[in-house]
Amino acid sequence: MIQKKGFQSICAQEMEVSLPNQPTQMPLYASSSFKFETIDQGISVFKGEQKGDFYSRYGNPGIRAMEEKLALLESFESGIEAEAVLFSSGMAAISTLLLSLLNPGDKILTQGNLYGGTTDLLTNILHRLKIEPVFTDLSDMQAVEDLLRSDKSIRLVYFETPANPTLACVDIEELVAVARAYGQYTVVDNTFCTPYLQRPLALGVDFVLHSTTKYLNGHGNSIAGVVIGRDKQLMREKVWTHMKLLGTNSNPFDAWLLNIGLKTLTLRMNQHCLNALKIAQYLEKNPAVEKVNYPGLHSHPDFLLAKNQMDQAGGMLSFELKGGLDAGIRFMNGVRFCTLAPTLGDIETLILHPASMSHVNVPREMREKNGITDGLIRLSVGIEAAEDILADLENALA
Ligand SMILES: *Cc1c(COP(=O)(O)O)cnc(C)c1O
Repeated sequence: MIQKKGFQSICAQEMEVSLPNQPTQMPLYASSSFKFETIDQGISVFKGEQKGDFYSRYGNPGIRAMEEKLALLESFESGIEAEAVLFSSGMAAISTLLLSLLNPGDKILTQGNLYGGTTDLLTNILHRLKIEPVFTDLSDMQAVEDLLRSDKSIRLVYFETPANPTLACVDIEELVAVARAYGQYTVVDNTFCTPYLQRPLALGVDFVLHSTTKYLNGHGNSIAGVVIGRDKQLMREKVWTHMKLLGTNSNPFDAWLLNIGLKTLTLRMNQHCLNALKIAQYLEKNPAVEKVNYPGLHSHPDFLLAKNQMDQAGGMLSFELKGGLDAGIRFMNGVRFCTLAPTLGDIETLILHPASMSHVNVPREMREKNGITDGLIRLSVGIEAAEDILADLENALA
């Protein structure tokens, strides 16, 4: 072959990739932009007349594959054609969705025991934009209805079920019915459950969101978030547009990691749930333990509700040690097998003592109001051999 290009041009330019066969695994589409064959093609892609990618903040094949897969999973067997947008993190998903839907003067009806970052976002950032949270007990339907009736600035109801740290549940269908009667959007953070255990779109919720960082990816190596909505037009015109302009987009590598993690979601969740139940049952019988919070235990106040709206009780639990802060710190120092880390949903068992770790700067009175007592331990039960987790807990409790 006669070579016409200069040496440096051969170095600098991309080779044509010929694909006589499709790869079995999704490639990593690490490209910030996509080229057009002709100017006409470019014009029609930009106008939205023709499908195509142009710039990865707007969209990317690997990111889109995850959006389509997550929309299918969240709307599974619901008959809904949902639309998803992937974000740089769970917090990006939450903040972008709220900024898409709310204006200054609007209020969000929500619960006090939200994920800490979400509470911070509502009280410290959205507050500056004159978007205010109204905190209440969302399992008290009378209180919810009274607030919706009396406060006309409430625009949406935002909730988590089960929620940290006591795994308290909210009746999704009941809450949706009340919110709908007052014309309010409902948004649920479904991170603890994943669509394998709980599918709120089928129960009438408008938007489901996740930190995919947790169970959906599952391997502790990627950060991303997703919003899945039942109103496709609203998702495109509002949520996608805000994502694109706020720059809260995901990236090819995190989407590619998420793609691998999602393949084993059901296997992992089954094992998380099986192990969590075994550990909850063991802890409930241990004399050093005051109380165990796990929705799969008959002793949990929301046992029946969880059984009704979740397919299994999940991999998260918390328990209270007799002996308060001292006991909590001694217990944490005794743990060898479990990992001390402030995240959840990984395949390894993760353990957290909120009073000395995640909530060390929160005054005791405020902590305790949300159930975070001195002796409370939170466990994200992994998929290891249950006997190894049990032996570690038994040893640390002794
Ligand atoms: C971790 C988490 C978030 C925040 O997600 P990031 O991916 O860390 O931004 C939101 N909600 C829940 C329930 C979480 O556990």
